[in-house]
Amino acid sequence: MADTYTMGVDIGSTASKCLILKNGSAIAGSAIIPAGTGTSGPGKSVETAFSKAGLTRDDIAGLAATGYGRNTFTAADFTVSELSCHAAGVHAMFPDAKTVVDIGGQDLKAIRIGKGGALDNFLMNDKCAAGTGRFLEVMARVLELDVSELAEKSRGAAKTIKISSTCTVFAESEVISQLALNADIGELIAGIHESVAVRAASLIRRLGLLLPLVMTGGVALNAGVVAALEKELGNRIIVSPIAQLNGAYGAAILAWRKINKTSGG
Ligand code: ADP
Repeated sequence: MADTYTMGVDIGSTASKCLILKNGSAIAGSAIIPAGTGTSGPGKSVETAFSKAGLTRDDIAGLAATGYGRNTFTAADFTVSELSCHAAGVHAMFPDAKTVVDIGGQDLKAIRIGKGGALDNFLMNDKCAAGTGRFLEVMARVLELDVSELAEKSRGAAKTIKISSTCTVFAESEVISQLALNADIGELIAGIHESVAVRAASLIRRLGLLLPLVMTGGVALNAGVVAALEKELGNRIIVSPIAQLNGAYGAAILAWRKINKTSGG
């Protein structure tokens, strides 16, 4: 029987992610472009994933768009909330997982996975940059670093310089004041990571932490935030090996399920 391909496109505030799934399980191609909604990012992520998989749009039996900019992607067959995608994606990879923490460029979500990987419950902070990738990007800019360098620069920090402001703008001023005092950069970054971890831990606790807990979203690539969150929660976190692609992965899974439901499979 011929292979069936489905595609998930996750158009975020910061990055566009695309993933092609073969027969509902194997990843045939994927791409992450660091440009989100309203940019050329979504189109580029799709083209790159097609070229990696050696496929074209005609080969895709179902295309689901998700993420903040999902309604702008007219090539999709349907759209789906990223909450459902993250639950489906994590469940497919970790069937026992009960909670997901997803930290992206602009929001922070705690998600409870229900039966069969369905969305059961969630809490979200999308009203302010604190506790999100944006907070880390602002701080990295002040420190003349890329977000991808933060974890390495803070590794082995002897202590944590606490950031007391939760507001990103005030926290940025605090970091600048610390720089003026010749603060240790590693200790300062450890404080920045802790600030994100405190916000995330508080949201997870409000939802109710059921283990295993899996982390998704681009911020999961920052080992400093992961370690700080483990410390805050006093529990181990499983980092998804496709953390930033998990939303697109879940969308491709849901596209696969939709096709099979329609065809009575
Ligand atoms: P969105 O879906 O809102 O676009 P993502 O889940 O793609 O968000 O995550 C984007 C965030 O991921 C960025 O704000 C940044 O903080 C973080 N990030 C992206 N790449 C890396 C990396 N290589 N190392 C550390 N953090 C990263």
